[in-house]
Amino acid sequence: MSDNLDPISQAIRIQTPRTPQGEHSTPLYLTSSFCFDDADAMRAAFAEESDDNIYSRFSNPTVDEFTKKMVMLEGADAGFSTASGMSAVVGSIMALLKNGDHMIVSSSIFGNTNTFVKKYMPNFGITYTMVQAGDESAWEAAVQPNTKMVYLETPTNPQVEVLDLEWIGQFSKKHNLILSVDNCFATPLLQKPIDFGADLVIHSATKWIDGQGRVLGGVVVGRADLIREIYLFCRVTGPTLSAFNAWVLSKSLETLDVRMERHCANALKVAETLESHPQVASVRYPFLPSHPQYAIAKKQMKAGGGVFCFEIKGGVEAGRKFLNALQMLSVTANLGDTRSICSHPASTTHSKLTDDERAAVGITPGLIRVSTGLEKVEDIIADILQALEKSL
Ligand SMILES: *Cc1c(COP(=O)(O)O)cnc(C)c1O
Repeated sequence: MSDNLDPISQAIRIQTPRTPQGEHSTPLYLTSSFCFDDADAMRAAFAEESDDNIYSRFSNPTVDEFTKKMVMLEGADAGFSTASGMSAVVGSIMALLKNGDHMIVSSSIFGNTNTFVKKYMPNFGITYTMVQAGDESAWEAAVQPNTKMVYLETPTNPQVEVLDLEWIGQFSKKHNLILSVDNCFATPLLQKPIDFGADLVIHSATKWIDGQGRVLGGVVVGRADLIREIYLFCRVTGPTLSAFNAWVLSKSLETLDVRMERHCANALKVAETLESHPQVASVRYPFLPSHPQYAIAKKQMKAGGGVFCFEIKGGVEAGRKFLNALQMLSVTANLGDTRSICSHPASTTHSKLTDDERAAVGITPGLIRVSTGLEKVEDIIADILQALEKSL
């Protein structure tokens, strides 16, 4: 039924078959294993590594429903859902790379991904070269005979830097490399990396996909042959998404379109307002013409996303005062929530680093990151303006 519907409608209507109870909402299959009619059926299921439901570490109908929606939204062939975004990142790298392989990694990646690449991949004999986003000659120079994969995020955290997916797609194809894109900040509704040649697309479903700060989850979708390897690795190692979280995430996808529309509209409005504020040195938002990669953002994204950042004048001290003066906006580590969230990395998450170390990862002293929620935009702006006043 749902195959000929628009993807937005499919995200609402795809579901596992109704049970004999006739429930309207999608059922939740909270079970660790599944029964077989007889010994022969069970033997066959195991012998063929079939797609039959056997055990919920391998597959579960509620998890499959969520995965199916994500595969559809990204325009992929197949997918596998995981317990968190990080298990999708780690599972996809460990399943596809081996001792002796090399990877090209964008230097602006999520903190824990960065730690995994630098601290743990070398333990398994997987080497890497980190390259700056726009430096095309550095990307070319990074290619080695044993390079297998290109890994990146766009827009990046926290500077919302935008990488040119079209160029990187062609680059990866030319060198026959697996292109893996963490699409967490954009969601499939704003950007579809597969259209630009990505082989794998990764999400932390914890962020905009859930969108309400309730559950952790992750998913990787893409080429069927690669997903098959990731599935076989994950069913043995066990970073599977829980059925309960999958149920929450599948319901969340029913509202992703309307939520993202408002998140993006609010973010643009707040970013525009701050751009002319005397206490704000600069604002970074992909859909502001002042953004260094504005043209690329316009080419590959439908809207600018819910995250923007700005530089408060007065450095670390002003940033700290600003955070303390907020009344409605939350001070928390998450992003992608109905509730607006502010963070000031220099006085919180990255306070132990030196100025130089922070600068190397794009964190300036007055950098404030805002994840724009769904509150009335006037209330978001009012809270930020009153906090700016108190941070003088
Ligand atoms: C949060 C995040 C992750 C990790 O996801 P978890 O669900 O927290 O494990 C990976 N990539 C990006 C861009 C993120 O923001």
